Amino acid sequence: MTMLDQLSPPAFSICVYCGSRPGHDAAFAATAAEIGHWIGHHRGQLVYGGGRNGLMGVVADAALAAGGRVTGVIPRSLAEREHAHRGCTELIMVETMHERKRIMAERADAFIALPGGIGTFEELFETWTWRQLGYHDKPLGLLNQGGYYDALIALARHSVRNGFMDSSQMQLIDVDAQWQPLLQRLIAAAGFGAPVRMGAI
Ligand code: AMP
Repeated sequence: MTMLDQLSPPAFSICVYCGSRPGHDAAFAATAAEIGHWIGHHRGQLVYGGGRNGLMGVVADAALAAGGRVTGVIPRSLAEREHAHRGCTELIMVETMHERKRIMAERADAFIALPGGIGTFEELFETWTWRQLGYHDKPLGLLNQGGYYDALIALARHSVRNGFMDSSQMQLIDVDAQWQPLLQRLIAAAGFGAPVRMGAI
């Protein structure tokens, strides 16, 4: 039996996609830390890309500090560049980006995208398109912190207006500017009751 087997199972597991950079506004990192803390405090598991840089490192450190289980999944070739987080409860080294995304998706009950760059966009779009294709049925949330994703949402609406998307596809993503109600809805939609509280954040 490994040390991981001895840990009680997490109350829920959420995959967080977010920037490998912190962004210019310190509010992004502050929110990432609140989310990590909330996951840890509610005995949750964070599944993420396994790096120590940017918002990714912030959310992982906060979840670990709050007693959460953190599973990082990182391609071996990126371990140095993205500063693989050796403090994760479980750090899974994979050979390819596809394997990384597959394992992250398998281990999560729900997904949330925080502000980030093209890597985050790619993960968000893949999870969104796979949901519409029926490859999975896990809830997906988009944290539109401070209007960060306004332009992306406008693009999707533009696509609906032009007949390349239909509005039902828009409904596959839960968008909110506030992280806490969004996380609570995602976890409830994934079939978990109110998460076990370990104390107010
Ligand atoms: P970024 O949002 O660009 O800072 O990247 C956030 C994370 O997404 C980083 O860990 C990147 O390695 C990861 N990433 C970049 N490209 C991809 C991709 N094609 N598929 C999955 N993850 C990616």
